[in-house]
Amino acid sequence: MGIERKILAGWLIDGSGEQVRKDVLICFKDGYIKSIETSKDPNAYKSYGLNPKPKNYSNATVIPCLIDSHVHLAMSGSVDPKIRQFQLKADDNDIRGEISNRIRNHLLHGIIAVRDGGDKKGHVLRYKRDCFIKNTDSFNLQTPGSAIYRKGRYGSLIGKPVSEKRNLAEEVTAHEKSIDHVKIINSGLNSLRDYGKRTLPQFSEYELTEAVKAAKRFGLKTMAHANGETPVKIAVDSGCHSVEHGFFMGYENLQKMAEKKIYWVPTAITMKAYSESCQNIKTESEIAKKNFDHQLEQITMAKDLGVPVALGSDAGSPGVDHGKALIEEMKIMVSSGYSIEEAIRCATFNNADLLGLKEIGLLEKGKQASFIIANGNPSDLPGSLQNIEKVYIKGKPMND
Ligand SMILES: [Zn+2]
Repeated sequence: MGIERKILAGWLIDGSGEQVRKDVLICFKDGYIKSIETSKDPNAYKSYGLNPKPKNYSNATVIPCLIDSHVHLAMSGSVDPKIRQFQLKADDNDIRGEISNRIRNHLLHGIIAVRDGGDKKGHVLRYKRDCFIKNTDSFNLQTPGSAIYRKGRYGSLIGKPVSEKRNLAEEVTAHEKSIDHVKIINSGLNSLRDYGKRTLPQFSEYELTEAVKAAKRFGLKTMAHANGETPVKIAVDSGCHSVEHGFFMGYENLQKMAEKKIYWVPTAITMKAYSESCQNIKTESEIAKKNFDHQLEQITMAKDLGVPVALGSDAGSPGVDHGKALIEEMKIMVSSGYSIEEAIRCATFNNADLLGLKEIGLLEKGKQASFIIANGNPSDLPGSLQNIEKVYIKGKPMND
């Protein structure tokens, strides 16, 4: 049995969405939280005769470790066309070191779990099998292998098409069995030429419903890439567990997602990054910015309607870097009207729920002592997460 450790935090945001608490004493032992109390004396660390003395973080804010619910670990956020081309052709040996570096970047930002959105050749799935062995206490990696799309439609960057011999549900059944969830692409990408142009759905409601059922038989959830009213409506009506992107999905879909408690992963940062990285192509930059602004309006609507939002960055998209992009996405949530407590809930409690991780994402008695210590008070968040003071994972400072 280990010894009980204590830290005094100036402020605590526990991941539930509840208001920040001031001056708290967090006690943990053997990796789990024993108690969280409001400290009667904020200077208690000076007079505590306890052994060991609580560590003093009275000028810092403690939040749960973060989770990114949409990344592409096989891809870099570089905007260099040569790098983007290379990574599509690369073999496992070229890419494994890069995946390790990206996981390291997530950890440096206090992100201890990620849900991958797929890659063309299934690099991440094999990385997990050969290099990562199993999910450890310090990092949880969930991957669909390759995403699934309809031949001739968008998807070759991150997936494999449904084979001509099979229907979608059969393809799901035939997919690698060691995957953690199924990823299905049900629309195209946002147009950077015609603002708001919708693409047709890739699959019918019947096809997608059968595919979701097939995934459920293996105990797997389905994440659906969908933009525009009809592709999102089909994803929602088919029982998919999350809608990825959801640009231009409209009020009615948001309303239904609030009712059915289906998670939305807005990945708004992708359009902001595009608008900044392609400034030499004026029209594309302007349209990306308009797509971004429209998504902010939908995020505000989602807050008013009570749509459960899970935060994912789509790191690996052009200009969207692993680790820091999730912090940018949190800033976007705050600028769309979410309180800092609510934005943190989306990146902690909600993401843990979507990923089925019961021990993390919330700081309360019995949960893992996995938290971030960010210098300054809550008004410095989320910016203060760009350069965090310390990360504790299961009760241990990360450097250890
Ligand atoms: Zn993606």
